[in-house]
This record gives sequence, structure tokens and C-alpha cells, in this order.
Amino acid sequence: MLLRLLLWIGLLTVAVLAAEDFYQLLGIKKDASEREIKKAYRNLSKKFHPDKNPGDDSAHHKFVAVAEAYDILIDEETRRIYDQYGHDGIEQHKRGGGRPAQHHDPFDLFSRFFGGSGHFGHGGGERRGPNMEVRVAVPLRDFYNGRQTEFTVEKQAVCSACEGSGSEDGYVETCDLCGGRGVRIQRQQLAPGLFQQVQAHCEKCGGKGKTIKHPCPVCGGSRVVREPETHELHVEKGMPRGVRITYENEADESPDWVAGDLVVHLMDTEPQMGQQDHERTDGTFFRRRGKDLFWREILSLREAWMGDWTRNITHLDGHIVQLSRKRGDVVQPNTVEVVENEGMPIWHQQLPDGVDEAFGNLHVEYVVVLPDQMDKSMEKEFWSVWEKWRKKKGVSLDQENKRPEGPIKMPDDHDEL
Ligand SMILES: [Zn+2]
Ligand SMILES: [Zn+2]
Repeated sequence: MLLRLLLWIGLLTVAVLAAEDFYQLLGIKKDASEREIKKAYRNLSKKFHPDKNPGDDSAHHKFVAVAEAYDILIDEETRRIYDQYGHDGIEQHKRGGGRPAQHHDPFDLFSRFFGGSGHFGHGGGERRGPNMEVRVAVPLRDFYNGRQTEFTVEKQAVCSACEGSGSEDGYVETCDLCGGRGVRIQRQQLAPGLFQQVQAHCEKCGGKGKTIKHPCPVCGGSRVVREPETHELHVEKGMPRGVRITYENEADESPDWVAGDLVVHLMDTEPQMGQQDHERTDGTFFRRRGKDLFWREILSLREAWMGDWTRNITHLDGHIVQLSRKRGDVVQPNTVEVVENEGMPIWHQQLPDGVDEAFGNLHVEYVVVLPDQMDKSMEKEFWSVWEKWRKKKGVSLDQENKRPEGPIKMPDDHDEL
């Protein structure tokens, strides 16, 4: 603890000497919202945490500086002073006895965001909370085009009102019944003269080892709250369905452990016709298998047989894939045409070295529909044409295949098996 404090003081001095612009430090704009400030802190504090950068002084310095920037910008008053008077203003404010800004030990601040005691504790010591798995579904076009989007999960977070102490006034007492151990040894008499020692949870503190006189009104003394949290989601072009995206230390938090990881399984939504143009492309109804796409196109009897047709299929990003046949080109029912490079983009992680972009194929299956109703005169004309040609060149498939003319009698007796 003392060592940690010394380290912190040492680092703080460095931070003050090389005062960087707080907004630049957090990588946010001057008009950043509270949420953006928190998000920037979450990302950067994990990145520069000393436990993750052993022996790297500049990372240590950044970790402390990021915490300081957060402390100043998250408080409306100190943010206003900083915006107007910069670092000097903040220094004066501290000295001039203005309302003291909430000043956190950077490790305490970190533990408020990620649980535990502010350390990752590689090599044991610090407990780690369970990972959390969620499914997020996006439409196929997002897998095709790539998209920056968001999703929200509800999770357990360290109560920010009491900063995870559970106490309204911040005062936590060691339980006098168990002496802070949370357990008590009790003697039970099994028979006269025969005792057994049993270790039991302390009934006064419920095994926590600590008691609180005035519980925090927000969390009721439980030190944690359930709250929604929104994360950014970067769907990369061609990501496979079911891909797992890990958000380090973003699972349930608790003062007793370091938050585990939030793991997102990226799934696709059922295709449905949307309201906006870009949601109404033919591509909305493409089916995907790996890097290939599949589509079923309907042809009329005339088209399949006589040719001379064109189809414009709108792909997932709005471009047109044109299909066509010249007069006389017959398409047999259920024929599959493979259109090269009109499938899914191949995910950059699966591309060979030196290749920037590649696509799978689009498989178009032709379904031919015959008319079930015809205009009377049309039927007459077709009939006479058919009759004419049947008489001239018609063949009976029954005869060609030498099929018997009537039913066949099966033998009565069964062979022994
Ligand atoms: Zn609380
Ligand atoms: Zn106790």
C-alpha cells in the first residue's frame, strides 16, 4: 500500500510537470459528453494500466494523467475552470479552497470502473469475475458493408454514489463479532464431553467482515447496482457469422474482483423488408454460406425457353448485378449460375498476405414457373401450334422408354430370404 502510494506520488509529479491538454489526452472533443469522457477513460486506463505495461514509465505516466484528466473533466465546475483558465486555473482552484475536486488515487478510480482493487493481479492474488457472453444480431448487409454501431447490455456495476463502499458517509466498520474475518468458530456439543468445532458465517456482518451504519441509499449497501452500458461495435466487412468479439474487463463488476471479459457473439438477424431504401434491396434476402451468397430468381416459361430477358438485382450495398440471356438461350429449371466475385467480402483476417480485397461468389438458382391460367384465344393458338408440331415430329416417351402398356402382375410366391 505504502509502495503504491509512493509510486503514485512519484508519477503525479511527472504528470504535473508535463501537463498535457486534458481533451487531447483523452482523445475527445471540447464538447464531449459525460458518456464520451467515461468511454475514453475506460479505454485508455485499461491500455496504460501499469500491470499491463510492466517497466514502462511512459505508460505509468499516461495512466495517472488519464485519471487526472477524467477527474477534472467529469466534474462540471472543474471542467468549466479548466476550459477557461487551463491547468493554472485548476492549480489555483485547488489552492484557493474552492470545492475540492473529487480527487482519486488513479488505482481507486480504476477500481470504480472495473471492480477489484485497481489491479489486474497477474500471477494470482486478485480475483477475477466471470466472463459474460451475449449475442448481438445485425442484418446481413452490415456483414457485407461493414458498420460502426452500438449495443447495450445490462450488467452489475460498482455503485458510483458510494464508490463501492456501500456506505452513505463512506464510513465502514470492521465487524466486532468476527474481528473482520467474516467467519466464526463455534463449539458444538455432540455428546457430553464431546465437542466439535464448526466454522460458520458470522451472523452479524453476513460473512463480509464489515458493518455499515448508514447504508448507501443508491445501492442499499450492496456496493453494486445493475445498469445498462452501451458499447461500440465495429462489424468488419466479411466477418463470419458467430464470430466472437471480446471486450476486456467489461463483464459484471464488483469491489471484490476484477471484472471478467464481455464476449459478443455476432449473429445475423432474420431478413426482413425495411422501411428505408437501403433496407429494401434484393440483397436483403440473400442467404449466406461462408463467403458465398445464394439467390433464387424466378423466370417465366417464355423467358426460360426463348431467352431475351434481363434482370437487375440490387446487391447489399445497392450496386446492380445484371443477369440476362439472349434470344434462344434456354435456361433449364433449377440451373445454378455462379456469378464470380459477387459473394461476401472476405474478412481481412482470412485474406492471404498482400491481398487487400477479395470476394466469394453469388450463386443464382433459376426457378421456372409455368402459367396456370391462359387467355382463351391464347390457349387456342398455343394448342394449334403444339398439335401441328406434335403430328410432325412428336414422339411418345412411353414408347421410347419401352414402358409396358398395362399393369404388371407380380409373382405370388416369395423367395426364401
Ligand atoms: Zn452505493
Ligand atoms: Zn462479522
